[in-house]
Amino acid sequence: MIPAAFEYQRAQTLDEALRLLTQNGEDAKLLAGGHSLLPLMKLRLAAPAVLIDIGRLSELSYVREDGDQVVIGALTRHRDLEISDVLRTHAPVLAHVAGQVGDPQVRHRGTIGGSIAHGDPASDLPAVCLAVGATFTVVGANGERSIAATDFFRGFLETALTPDEVLTEIRMPKLDGAGWSFQKFNRRAQDWAIVGVVAVAGAQPGVALVNMGPVPLRATAVETALAGGASPTDAAAHAADGLDPPADLNASPEYRRHLAQVLVRRALEEARTP
Ligand code: FAD
Repeated sequence: MIPAAFEYQRAQTLDEALRLLTQNGEDAKLLAGGHSLLPLMKLRLAAPAVLIDIGRLSELSYVREDGDQVVIGALTRHRDLEISDVLRTHAPVLAHVAGQVGDPQVRHRGTIGGSIAHGDPASDLPAVCLAVGATFTVVGANGERSIAATDFFRGFLETALTPDEVLTEIRMPKLDGAGWSFQKFNRRAQDWAIVGVVAVAGAQPGVALVNMGPVPLRATAVETALAGGASPTDAAAHAADGLDPPADLNASPEYRRHLAQVLVRRALEEARTP
């Protein structure tokens, strides 16, 4: 439970963080809330030589409106998402889901950018981003680019980010009036989801799954069935089509497939009843 030795550097600005990343290359890791990276380091599953602390970059902590979108700085803490009036009005599903992450300590330290950049299939916030069709702004040595959430998650804890890039902003469409639902099945209130589902109704419906494969996933078979006019029950029967959910102490793959069908049905029924 003791991490390998590392050098610690604190970036005062985004520019300084980018410079430190370029200087240190693949030996460096960004540190935001530390609630995913530090456990990995303590288990020696990650051993970065240099930690670049971006946790105090207040320039990347905000939630604001931009036309028909909501934009969120990557360093915004889960608790700040939960209590954001902008989100409660225009993207209440994100505020609600952020309030279900871990316990108060985790929510006061963890950041939305860290949750997305970590790419953990068991995380809740990536599923919101997939369901609503979010895009991610990243900045690196070669400038800025925008990546759709659907193209971002590449493999287990692997994303489209290159080692010199910082995720700076999350953009999502305003969901004004659209129904939504979050179904999180866990044994205790503060636990990770054994399986989770985010569903959004309205003009651009989307359904995403937590802990049903190696990456955060969109439930494309369910979305296709809905687009073809299927009822929530019939669409939910496709929740695990083509998926290979993990086995662990909490659940077998078969149990997760069953849970996904039950939770997707509940989510679709709740989302269509605003
Ligand atoms: P960090 O741990 O600092 O970083 C994670 C990774 O992302 C690192 O590789 C880091 O280099 C990289 N990174 C961070 N920020 C950026 C950035 N801006 N640009 C590029 N790379 C970046 N999550 C859930 O979704 N649901 C839960 O129920 C849940 N329960 C938890 C319970 C416990 C006890 C703990 C410890 C964590 C739990 N989490 C849960 C995870 C929590 O939400 C983490 O805070 C989050 O996943 C990571 O955010 P962070 O800011 O702590 O990232």
